[in-house]
Amino acid sequence: MIIIMERNATKVQIQRVIDFLKDNDFQVRHNTGEVHTVIDALGDKTTITPGRLAAFEGVKEVKIIREPFRLASRDRKPEDTVIEFKNGVKIGGGNKPVAIVGPCSVEADYEGLLEIATAAKEMGCEFLRGGAFKPRTSPYDFQGYGEKALQFLKRASEATGLLVVSEVMDASDLPMMLDYVDVLQVGARNVQNFKLLHAVGKCNKPVILKRGLASTIREFLLAAEHIMYQGNMQVILCERGIRSFDSAFTRNVMDIASIPVIKKYSHLPVIVDPSHGTGQRYLIEPMAKAGLVVGADGVMIEIHNDPENALSDGKQSLPLPMFREVMGRINKFNELIKEDRQHQAANTI
Ligand code: PEP
Ligand code: MN
Repeated sequence: MIIIMERNATKVQIQRVIDFLKDNDFQVRHNTGEVHTVIDALGDKTTITPGRLAAFEGVKEVKIIREPFRLASRDRKPEDTVIEFKNGVKIGGGNKPVAIVGPCSVEADYEGLLEIATAAKEMGCEFLRGGAFKPRTSPYDFQGYGEKALQFLKRASEATGLLVVSEVMDASDLPMMLDYVDVLQVGARNVQNFKLLHAVGKCNKPVILKRGLASTIREFLLAAEHIMYQGNMQVILCERGIRSFDSAFTRNVMDIASIPVIKKYSHLPVIVDPSHGTGQRYLIEPMAKAGLVVGADGVMIEIHNDPENALSDGKQSLPLPMFREVMGRINKFNELIKEDRQHQAANTI
């Protein structure tokens, strides 16, 4: 850490900071220039955080040199994390990008879900996603069918061989959910629900962590760190767009650059969700491809057998005939950019 003291900081104030750091086993050097005193401190930031030092009288600014996320950081683990599933599917590390597709919410009609899952399997997708517990802005909107939806997902998975992804909203549901899902999803609205992050951190199941509606990349990585700190290293980050000032044409602003930025600073796999990122059916294909070009390890796309009557997110869901076409092109596209992606993956390390 570098601590820059105010122009008029007194000798006593400077000494108090130095003594405090030394008392906490930091190695300290300081330099008094013409205007400012700068203190250079090396030590364990888990005990003394930059925020604590900033509170000292006479401190102007505290700068960190190493990123505060440790377990998620590439400095600490240069090679990509690869998450491997029981059927040999892998996410991360330059492996073939995965496709995670399905309805926003699992609905009452199992046949519809099976139709979706069958199309997904036919198109080479690896995961079936569907919400059982839905975080809805309005309490009057459909909230999800809970365990019944998870039973449907499991049945569809047994019929097709697809792995199951579903969102957890409450830690108390975890023991029940673990019997049904292969991957837990933590949604955008829960990215800073630290108790939930800790609870999934104690599970031995991969977690897709979605970027929050207004998360900075650093906050997003620190949310992953909360999960990893509890022991679960199997975290997949998902860029799903952030809130910005312009929602005239898209639901969110898809931050495509976050993907290579995250890859530069973290070894964790990153996937891209153009469905929530844009909220527009016509943007899913180009934005999925854009995500893949910049290194995403997979795509998450909402699809539906009857989007006009979907209980949530019908507008952004691809109807199955359109999904088949789009996925066919995404598969071809992945082949085309394969060499480039491997080159990119090798150069990030
Ligand atoms: C979802 O995946 O259906 C969902 C609710 O996404 P997000 O948390 O990104 O809004
Ligand atoms: Mn949705």
